[in-house]
Amino acid sequence: MAEEKMKKENKGKKNKKNKPSSQKWKKYKIDGDKIVREACCTRCGPGVFLSKSQGRLYCGKCHYTEFIAKK
Ligand SMILES: [Zn+2]
Repeated sequence: MAEEKMKKENKGKKNKKNKPSSQKWKKYKIDGDKIVREACCTRCGPGVFLSKSQGRLYCGKCHYTEFIAKK
């Protein structure tokens, strides 16, 4: 019964799922008086961060990929 009620209420509405936010603020660190940024895209400039995956840095905006040298 409870499920039926839920379906009725949802009629004509999209199921909203809360997407995880980009959490860009986590890319900034404050070191004394300076702001330290994590790897930024060289094409897009500061403000566009690169994501780390499989030993690579990837820009989601311009699809720029930077390889991290292995030690
Ligand atoms: Zn970029």
